[in-house]
This record gives sequence, C-alpha cells and structure tokens, in this order.
Amino acid sequence: MSKVLVVEDSRSLSAIMKSRLSEEGFDVTVAGTLKDAISVLDSKRTTFLAAVLDLTLPDASGTEIVTAVRQYSVPSLVFTRDFDSALQNTLWKMGIVDYVFKEGRHSIEYIVRMLNRLELNTKTSVLVADDSRSMRNHFESLLQTHRYKTILVENGQMALEVLKSRSDISLLITDYNMPGMNGVELIRNARQYHSPDRLAIIGISDTRLANLSSQFIKHGANDFLSKPFLTEEFYCRVTQNIELIDKIEKIRNLSQRDFLTGLYNRRFFFGIIDELLLGFQKDETKFFVAMMDIDFFKKVNDTYGHDGGDEVLRTVSDILKNIFDAPCDLVARFGGEEFCVISAEKRFDRLEILRSSVEGAAVQFKDDTIRCTISIGVSDTPGPIGTMLAEADEHLYQAKNHGRNRICTSVSPT
Ligand code: GH3
Ligand code: MG
Ligand code: MG
Repeated sequence: MSKVLVVEDSRSLSAIMKSRLSEEGFDVTVAGTLKDAISVLDSKRTTFLAAVLDLTLPDASGTEIVTAVRQYSVPSLVFTRDFDSALQNTLWKMGIVDYVFKEGRHSIEYIVRMLNRLELNTKTSVLVADDSRSMRNHFESLLQTHRYKTILVENGQMALEVLKSRSDISLLITDYNMPGMNGVELIRNARQYHSPDRLAIIGISDTRLANLSSQFIKHGANDFLSKPFLTEEFYCRVTQNIELIDKIEKIRNLSQRDFLTGLYNRRFFFGIIDELLLGFQKDETKFFVAMMDIDFFKKVNDTYGHDGGDEVLRTVSDILKNIFDAPCDLVARFGGEEFCVISAEKRFDRLEILRSSVEGAAVQFKDDTIRCTISIGVSDTPGPIGTMLAEADEHLYQAKNHGRNRICTSVSPT
C-alpha cells in the first residue's frame, strides 16, 4: 500500500481527500500545518509515494511548504486556489509533479488519477535517446520526479540495442539531431519490431526544422514535442501516451485472457501456438502437450454452488500458473474445467507436481473446505499441433476411464 502525505489546513477538505484516497488503496497521513508536515516526515521513516500540498497554511505561504517537502525527496503535487502564473513557474522549476487547481470534486479525481499514475510509473520504464548530456539529465530528472524508471542513451544505435534486449520499455523519447542515426531513422528502425500499441514514441523536434513533427509522426512516432517545451506540457504528453499504452494493454488482456482465472483463453492459445512451436523447433526443444480436466467438477457445483465451483477453478488455475511459469510455457483455459498446457519436455516432471498439488489443495469457501483432483492426458509425439491435441485428449479420456486423478501418456496408459 503506497503512502501519501496530504498537507491541508481545511479539515473538511483533508477529510474528503483522506476518505477518497483511502478508497483507492492509499495509506494517507494528514498534516494541517508546515510544522506538522515536517514532524511527520521526520518521524515516519517510511517513504511516501507523493505529497499533496496546499500552499496557504497557517504557518506557510508561497513556495515554503514545497521547499520543505523537497528536502525529503518526496514528489509533490501542489493543490491550490492560487492562479499566480509567476508562482506556478517557480514551482515547476522546483520540480513539482503537478499543479492542480482546487475546483471541486473533479480536481480531487484528477489527483487520484495522478497518484495512481505515479504508483504505476514505479513499474514503467522510459528510454531516452539524446546526444546532449544536459538534455539527458533534464529528461531524467523530469521523469524521475514522476517516478518512472529511466534508461538514458546517447545515440540511436544504443537505443535500438536497449529495445532489443528489453521488452519492458513503454516509452521512447528521442531527440532528432544525433550522430550516426537521427531520431526519425531511429523511429523507423524501432518500428520494425515494436508496434505503436506496445511502445509509445515521442519525438523531440526542433522548431527551426519546420516539417520535423510531421516526419516523426509519419515514421511511427505517437507524438512529438517542440523544443523548448514547458515542463507541464512534457508531463501531459508523457502521461497521455503512457496511459494509452496501458489502456491498450488492458484491452489486450481482456481479449486474450479468461476473466475468471486470468489464464489465456482458447482463442489466444490458437493465435500464438504456431509462433511458440516455431520457437521450440528453432531451438530444437522437445515439448509436450497436456490436456487436463477437473474430476467430478459437476459434483462440486452441485454441492457448493456455482461460486464454490468458481473458487476451485481459480485455485487450480493459480496452481497451474505457479508450476508452469517459464517464459515458453503456455497455459490456457480451454473452457469449463478444461485446461491445456504446452511446455518443454524437460519440465515433464511438473505434471506430477501439478496433479499432487491439486489433490493436496484445500480450497476454502465460506465455511467449507473443498477438495478436488485433476486428470491429465499427454502427447509428446512430435507432429502437427492438431494431432498432438487429439492424442492428449485421447489420453485424458483414458485417465478418466482408469479412475481419474492420474496422468496418462503414450507409454503409461494407466
Ligand atoms: P469428469 O470427472 O468426467 O470430468 O466429470 P465432471 O463433473 O467434471 O464433468 P462435466 O462435464 O459433467 O461437468 C462439468 C461442469 O462444469 C458442468 C458445468 O456446469 C461446470 N462449469 C463449466 N464452466 C464453469 C464455470 O465457469 N464455473 C463453474 N462454477 N462451473 C462451470
Ligand atoms: Mg489553505
Ligand atoms: Mg471434469
């Protein structure tokens, strides 16, 4: 649970904020004065995700509270009625996360959105390509204020190498003028392997080169920013692009995964299978296909109701996920209480671990403990996937007929 410090002298407002932020899962500490805020920061040896700061306090005004909180390296969101633009400029220069006007309920929702964003940003990586050291440092400091993980490189070639070796980069920010490969060329190269719905790219264009922004977009950038830019605009563009990538990821997950268990669904399985098998073929990895089905599941539903059955499905799925957790393992819920696993041959022994883990699992549901078993049919005869699935299915049928709670392969039909 992330900790948030709210410094606000209006009790009614701090109460509303505390309740709204707690609802979102934040651990909120309220301070009513600058002095209180400092004693909280001094006494709590915990790190705050961020602080939401009212500027006008009984014992502080202007930038005082921001200056004080900055000593503790806590990212600050200023929440104020003050429209003074000179003050805003000063605060942006001081490295605030955001400047939010108090304008009723929706401004609190904006703060909620920003805090959630900051929390997600701690797991979000941004790659910056710029040959100017001072610009790299500037980007790094801006991004770190928003809690992003940053990787900084000084040319296009290095950026491509980072993108090749890491799949967790959500955003690339690239300058145009760099030695060797310019920003547009970098984007063109990057886009051969990284689609705009997984990797957002923002090109930094120089206003002296008139058509650069369109060149960036035409070659695959999601967005651009003209140099020199305002900090606030930089954050707006970065946040917007990262949020878009996250939303697409959510939609992708919804369409690829089964809602109840979080496992991949049948459609995803058949969409990815050729690529997975090609990988096995290239590495000359032998693999197996296992079809599995919970035993007497109808009885679970009849005894404990559909919700009890769902709990069993979730538990069995978690066991499956934990046991088949290698990057090239594929686990899918085919439908009902039927699952399919594809894995490398050397992980064959995990099927027995799976069988016994399901048998040993005590599923807590209301006042009951539900127990179940699983039958598994395997095919490891290399051939077209359809044939292997049919053979695994045939062996599953045998496992059911030979008493259930067992694994059947072509060598061991019992
Ligand atoms: P067997 O050992 O031969 O596999 O018997 P079984 O009772 O497990 O198999 P059967 O196919 O007769 O019953 C499967 C039941 O699974 C029937 C169906 O209502 C239930 N089911 C399918 N999908 C879900 C689900 O998402 N949640 C719950 N709770 N039940 C489901
Ligand atoms: Mg006040
Ligand atoms: Mg069954």
